[in-house]
Amino acid sequence: MDVLFVGAGPAGLAGAIELARLVKREQAAGSGMADLNIAVLEKAGSLGEHNLSGAVINPRSLRELFPDLKDSDFPLRQPVTGESVHFLTSSGSVRIPTPPTMHNAGFYTASICELVRWLGEQAEALGVNLFPGFPVDALLVEGQAVRGVRTTPAGLDRDGQPGSGYQEPTDLTGKVTVLSEGTRGPLSQAWQRWQGVTSPNPQVYALGVKEVWRTKRPLDQLLHTMGWPLPTDAFGGSFCYPLGRDMVALGLVVGLDYHDASLDVHTLLQRLKLHPLFRPYLEGGELLEWGAKTIPEGGFHALPARRHGDGLLLVGDAAGFVDVPSLKGIHYAIQSGIYAARTIFEALKAGDVSASRLSAYDRRVDASYIAQDLYRTRNMRLAFKDGFVAGGMKAGLMTLTGGRFPGGRIAMPPDAAVPRVTGAAEPLVPDNVLTFSKVDAVFKSGNATRDTIPSHLLVGPEVSGAVADFYSHLCPAGVYERAGDELRVNAPNCIDCKATDVLGPRWTPREGGSGPKYRTM
Ligand SMILES: Cc1cc2nc3c(=O)[nH]c(=O)nc-3n(C[C@H](O)[C@H](O)[C@H](O)COP(=O)(O)OP(=O)(O)OC[C@H]3O[C@@H](n4cnc5c(N)ncnc54)[C@H](O)[C@@H]3O)c2cc1C
Ligand code: SF4
Repeated sequence: MDVLFVGAGPAGLAGAIELARLVKREQAAGSGMADLNIAVLEKAGSLGEHNLSGAVINPRSLRELFPDLKDSDFPLRQPVTGESVHFLTSSGSVRIPTPPTMHNAGFYTASICELVRWLGEQAEALGVNLFPGFPVDALLVEGQAVRGVRTTPAGLDRDGQPGSGYQEPTDLTGKVTVLSEGTRGPLSQAWQRWQGVTSPNPQVYALGVKEVWRTKRPLDQLLHTMGWPLPTDAFGGSFCYPLGRDMVALGLVVGLDYHDASLDVHTLLQRLKLHPLFRPYLEGGELLEWGAKTIPEGGFHALPARRHGDGLLLVGDAAGFVDVPSLKGIHYAIQSGIYAARTIFEALKAGDVSASRLSAYDRRVDASYIAQDLYRTRNMRLAFKDGFVAGGMKAGLMTLTGGRFPGGRIAMPPDAAVPRVTGAAEPLVPDNVLTFSKVDAVFKSGNATRDTIPSHLLVGPEVSGAVADFYSHLCPAGVYERAGDELRVNAPNCIDCKATDVLGPRWTPREGGSGPKYRTM
């Protein structure tokens, strides 16, 4: 291959589309440029099955990627026609003014799975090679340069030995490898460690648990909430978006710097659905899908000092291009993919894919609205590390002063360094109508991973009963269970959200096609 994209999310697919189009345009102009072999490798069995978002999409980068199309040509669900923000108590709610960062007029609700499938079709039509079911396990390097990737093997038995249907790992070389692997990517982390690339603050994360419901009552606006059911020292909130007259997407996002080791985002979302603000929409409806994913929340101060190297670029969530105060990442992912493609195109024409040539990508990003937007809100998420009330006041002042207050940088510890105390877990008995157990939820993610697969989760040698409890609350998919004083690991249940990778056992890529099979997330 000439160019490899690792991950078929909006960032990787946008990059592949823009690059293929630039080559076609150059060839049409009669330059004699040879065809370029562009590949996108994806760990999901089919495109879109591992993508999960809100989503409200700012269409600006889609318009740049497809200048000949109208908004109505994009696979978006509906324009935003209204929105409100509510502060919740356990039984009531107060509508509060919508913070300026949360205005969504002119944007659209969408399913990222549908967007990714559509982007995949556009890429394929331009001759891009799509390889779903091919997770990348490692980077191939030569000196300081990245020269390609190695995929995971398939068909291993529980002990890691080749079983029937064994497939060896495949090595694919490329002049440039683009890491578009999304949140908490192990390859992006490994490359940064190897190259000594740091950031002023460590990257920090939130976990979002989300459900899609068929509803009887239409929702005619976006709902965002703060407050209950979160404890006051946790950062987060919920969203509920219409995906048509009879469908809503509902989710709860919680920063992984929470202090109570018994906090359980899945259970909190189940509780939230019983609140008078949401219950009337869900009652009589049906849970269609369930899933979870982490979000890189560190913002500007957590961006890697460079997102380019010899033969390598980082794009989208893999680079941390998410603006948390507006809960937006998709249009930044697409835009960074476009910039990566333009830089690679110029580099290939010049026959030079060195770090110094590829540094043009960072200059493009830094001069763009990606860096400007993240800079404006640079301390907003970080202010909430001191709790909701202090954080809310500081965030208000930051908004009023365009990010100038308090100035400087609020330092953040890595999520895993935050001290935890064991609170009293509040279990919830699911009614299987509005609320569901983790086991039933995982079923709704479509996860049908082979249960004879070797575990892809690296657990430390000694796990105390208390830590086993912590993991079992943390993992939304019920992968970890405490059995006496031991930790039981149901690895096939994993839906690749990466939450425990942030706070506990490390996640590694496993056999292609394992994990969830999201359709409308
Ligand atoms: C709960 C939630 C709500 C959100 N709401 C919004 C919203 O309303 N609006 C908005 O704009 N943004 C929102 N975001 C953020 C947005 O979804 C992300 O910023 C965006 O999806 C990033 O795109 P990406 O292409 O970088 O990564 P992803 O969309 O995560 O795609 C990465 C792809 O890489 C694949 N992959 C990973 N590792 C490997 C590997 N080793 N080998 C092969 N393939 C691999 C994954 O399977 C995936 O398909 C939300 C995120 C969450 C979790
Ligand atoms: S084990 Fe899998 S599903 Fe559970 S938290 Fe970790 S990554 Fe998410």
